[in-house]
Amino acid sequence: MYAAGDVRVEDVLDAAIVEPTDAILRVTRACICGSDLHPYHQMERSETGRPMGHEAIGVVEDVGAGVRSIKQGDLVVMPFAFSDGTCAFCREGLHTACVHGGFFDGYGTSAAQAEAVRVPYADGTLYPLPVGEEDALMPSLLTLSDVMGTGHHAAVVAKVGPGKRAAVVGNGAVGLCGVIAAKRLGAEQIVILGRHEDRIALAREFGATDVVFERGEQAIERVRELTGGEGVHSVLECVGYAQAVETAIGIARPGGAVGRVGVPQDDSLPASLPAFFGNITVGGGPAPVRAYIQELLPDVLEGRIQPGRVLDRTVGLDGVPDGYRAMDDREAIKVMVTP
Ligand SMILES: [Zn+2]
Repeated sequence: MYAAGDVRVEDVLDAAIVEPTDAILRVTRACICGSDLHPYHQMERSETGRPMGHEAIGVVEDVGAGVRSIKQGDLVVMPFAFSDGTCAFCREGLHTACVHGGFFDGYGTSAAQAEAVRVPYADGTLYPLPVGEEDALMPSLLTLSDVMGTGHHAAVVAKVGPGKRAAVVGNGAVGLCGVIAAKRLGAEQIVILGRHEDRIALAREFGATDVVFERGEQAIERVRELTGGEGVHSVLECVGYAQAVETAIGIARPGGAVGRVGVPQDDSLPASLPAFFGNITVGGGPAPVRAYIQELLPDVLEGRIQPGRVLDRTVGLDGVPDGYRAMDDREAIKVMVTP
């Protein structure tokens, strides 16, 4: 990406082993992420451009001398953050706080909307998949690199559990995966806040029981009506804009919890007074998706969840610029890339 709205497909230097703990992945599937739309709207012009893409499945082409468990030829899923797998935070399951970790697709790093990507700390980052390269489950497996793990994180932080009422703010790919996660963790009522017909229809298939089309104060009132005046125990905030966070806190029941996974677009935390006086826990952040793959993978392999349904358009590498446009125009929920 060279600037807002300026995405190009170009030949770059081949991804290569730099550190002995690296692996090189031949990318078989990648995605365009809702979070890629932030730079697509705002990025200042860059002379060198910024490599894009942080979600991938691929085949390991090469490994450095220090890589132990990942082998050439493995089909693996690559979480959106790399992590060593051994530090205190990784051992606690918070891989996105890894002391050696980082995110793909910043300036100067390798990225996944490409034929190949360099993966730091291959042993701690990559997760081998027990299927073939063209398995029919590929779209759902691909969501384990970000959106399904992120929706699950929102549900975990929001303390979703059996018999609880939950609400999901946002009907993008993460919000829809949040509905799957809330149902999977036993929520009795799942309210989705959003207004795109096709996405709402999918949310209902994933387990949403109620839909709120309103926004702001009206949305808060509507959710209260749907919950006996109380609000919900668990709110999954999957947008990031201040108004969405305000709504999320506004619909939480006293003593409830808000799990934030929408990337904040400003510095301050909205609705701090209602959160305080409602004893509402507000938490969340970049999801440690690497930690969740082990738990979610069996449900994908056995067909109990189908998060891959959020990938409703597929493009080749040449189609990536139009894929950004399609997501930005809300023509597509999420775009899969087959390099
Ligand atoms: Zn670590």
